[in-house]
Formats: sequence, structure tokens, C-alpha cells
Amino acid sequence: KPGTLLALNWKMNKTPTEARAWAEELKEKYAPAEGVELAVMAPALDLSALAANLPAGVAFGGQDVSAHESGAYTGEISAGMLKDTGATYVVVGHSERREYHGETDAVVAAKARQAQAYGLTPIVCVGEGLEVREKGEHVAYTLKQLEGSLENVGPDVVIAYEPVWAIGTGKTATADDAEELAAAIRDALTERYGHNADGIRVLYGGSVKPENIAQLCGKANVNGALVGGASLKVTDVLGMNEAL
Ligand code: 13P
Repeated sequence: KPGTLLALNWKMNKTPTEARAWAEELKEKYAPAEGVELAVMAPALDLSALAANLPAGVAFGGQDVSAHESGAYTGEISAGMLKDTGATYVVVGHSERREYHGETDAVVAAKARQAQAYGLTPIVCVGEGLEVREKGEHVAYTLKQLEGSLENVGPDVVIAYEPVWAIGTGKTATADDAEELAAAIRDALTERYGHNADGIRVLYGGSVKPENIAQLCGKANVNGALVGGASLKVTDVLGMNEAL
């Protein structure tokens, strides 16, 4: 089983000043947990503050990246820019980007390829909405999204299964729900990459907090979590780190 990744997604929260204070507080109180990697996905403007102030061994990255190399793409952030800050990860295809910014699987795959071209590990997000879940089509839907989002993408990836109905709703998938999809994703990865899939971490995301993380990540095919709301306070992050 690959090691555990506790990945935090701050979403559109924290100014650079707040990011620095958060990193300093973490540095004061953080003790690495055996076999657990901690990584903070922050707004691009916060990355320099994280680079300067996070405790050693804590990784960081962006929440989105351009599919393009450079040039006339106003407002976009390139993989090279992220890499230059010291970032090692970037989230691609989060459901909020898919929903509010119209990102298709093809765009997500292009972003993941661009990240990999710069040595960044993309955290590729997939997961079904409530309607799909209620029709019982969540496995087929999510696997199709996964295939499209990994087109010509190499095995240096992290996959985050985030059922949209569980994001920010307080409605956590059960550990068995998470495991059902994590196992299906694991099989699809093995089919795609063979043994090169062995080190790929499959995360669960959606209302993860200190109280439920151990149960979710205790499942055979769940290799960590992608955490939104509970990533904002250092005390919650320490609680999750200790629970793993
Ligand atoms: P919450 O943990 O706030 O439900 O968000 C999950 C998420 O979208 C992480 O990327």
C-alpha cells in the first residue's frame, strides 16, 4: 500500500499574510506522523509565503494550472511559475473548476500533462454529483471521468475521489462508499499503468475532518484525504495528522 497523503485544499481562502501566520503556527506545533505526508494546496499568491515559512518536509502546491506553456493567457498561472515557487503538487479538475469554469476531462488532462512536464505531481479530481449517485451510476460515471482526465498523462499522479454531494455539505460518504470507488479507481489505474500504478495514491475528499479521517483512510484502497473546510485551522490539521 502506498504511503498516506494528507492534502489540504484551502480553496479561495487566506491572504499571503494569513498564509504566513498559518505556516508559522504549524511550524510551532507540527510533529510529522509516521508514514503520512502533509501537503498544502493554496492560492497561487500564497505560495511564496508557504515556501518561506512551512516546516521542513511539508509540501505545497497550487489549486489549478494553465494547460498552456506561456504567453497571451491573461489571468492564468503556468506550471513553470508554480514550480519556481518550490511547489511540488497542483490540483487539477476540482469539481468547482469543472462546474464554475467549464473544465472538461480533455482540459483537465491537458493541465495534468502540463504539470508533469514541469515535474509537478497533479492531483486529479473526479467524482459524481447527487443525481448520478441516486441513479446508482457513480462507479461508471467516475471511471469514465478518470479515463478522460488521464488521457496521455503519466503515472506520477495522485487521484482524489470527491463525490460532489459530499463537498462542503457536512455529508461525508461512508467509508464503504469511499472504498468502493477507491478500489474501482485502483483497478483502472493498474489496467492503465501496470506496476507503475503501485505507488499512485488514491485519496478521498468530501467533509473530511479529525473525527472521521481515520475510518475513511483505514480502508484498504484509500491512501489519504483531500480536505477543504477542515484545512483552514491548524488545530484541525494537527488533529487529522494525529488521527492517521
Ligand atoms: P470539504 O472538505 O470542505 O468538504 O471540501 C472537500 C474538497 O473539495 C477538497 O478539495
